[in-house]
Amino acid sequence: MKFPNSKWTLLSRAMAVLAVLIVPAATLGTGSRYEAQPSLPPAGDLAGFSALAPIDAHVHLYTDDPAFGAFMQRLNLRILDILLIDDREAYFKGLEPQRADVLKVVHSTGGRAVLCTTFSPYDLEEPGFAQRTIRQLDADFEAGAIAVKIYKVMGMEMKSKAGKYVMPDDPAFEPIYEDIAAHHRTVVAHIAEPDSCWQPPNPASPDYEYYQQNPQEYAYAHPEWPSKAAILTARDHLVAENPKLRVVGAHLGSMEADVDEMAQRFDRYPNFAVDTAARVVYFMLQPRDKVRTFLIKYQDRILYGTDLGATAKDNTEKALQEWEDTYERDWKFFATDQTVEYKGHTYKGLALPEPVLRKIFHDNAVHWLPGIMGKS
Ligand SMILES: [Zn+2]
Repeated sequence: MKFPNSKWTLLSRAMAVLAVLIVPAATLGTGSRYEAQPSLPPAGDLAGFSALAPIDAHVHLYTDDPAFGAFMQRLNLRILDILLIDDREAYFKGLEPQRADVLKVVHSTGGRAVLCTTFSPYDLEEPGFAQRTIRQLDADFEAGAIAVKIYKVMGMEMKSKAGKYVMPDDPAFEPIYEDIAAHHRTVVAHIAEPDSCWQPPNPASPDYEYYQQNPQEYAYAHPEWPSKAAILTARDHLVAENPKLRVVGAHLGSMEADVDEMAQRFDRYPNFAVDTAARVVYFMLQPRDKVRTFLIKYQDRILYGTDLGATAKDNTEKALQEWEDTYERDWKFFATDQTVEYKGHTYKGLALPEPVLRKIFHDNAVHWLPGIMGKS
């Protein structure tokens, strides 16, 4: 099964190559070497990653194969496990069976996976939409959900009965956002897509294969869709209108091409942060010093996330290899000044200071996603 919002199958191919090139054999073994680390071990190894009690703030894990729980325990990892609704995909058409599947994952991982629920925006014009949705979300919060995903079908696919594209700041959603804030939960907003979604096919783009494989999501092929700028303006409006609501913009808030775009929003909206899911490569593509300075300045606003996932139909061993390779590569990039390879190009790691790594890989998720560490 493909994940409609992710590049993870694409990354997996690149990672398979990377694994051969850069992953020292010793780090691929299993065992207890990650446990009971008394202090932060040398960077450039998953031991350093594990020592931070890392949190992956953006995962789509829909299988309760116990191997995933064992993997998380070995890496001392927690994940936010995210639902989404997209009427173009059978599995994602409704809340079920996703919600039941993720609740099983929560159980099978001993709570290392935490539920991020969602709601169907499609019937926003039906009577009682907001009340019904709020009732559902409140039940999900009772069941342990700590966040609510909103998805890019807002702005890019969904139309009102009058034929207008429905934006994320549509007044019909406002009572729902107010309810989420009142429950001290967080919105994870995957709104819009990378710039390349609106641009002609370019094999050099990190997203090229994704839109070749998913033309129904390719805005360039749908000139009738709103512009990216219009969609992000609506997203910003929702953030501004709800200052008590924490909003984490998924995928660098779809401002992947230039860190200045993110900086502008962080300066304007204290209730806004972003996750790095499936967009770490965009940090590699920008000038290293600029990215490093940005990450240090806005060290409280970046949550590490990957967009990794798996379903019951996937090969668990292969999936977990991809997870491990992704964490290896990303950790190496953020924590060391070693060379990381992506699509035949090499990039020098950022060697971020340890307190900044601690925030990106752990503290910020704790702050922006209250409940991610479980009920205490
Ligand atoms: Zn995702």
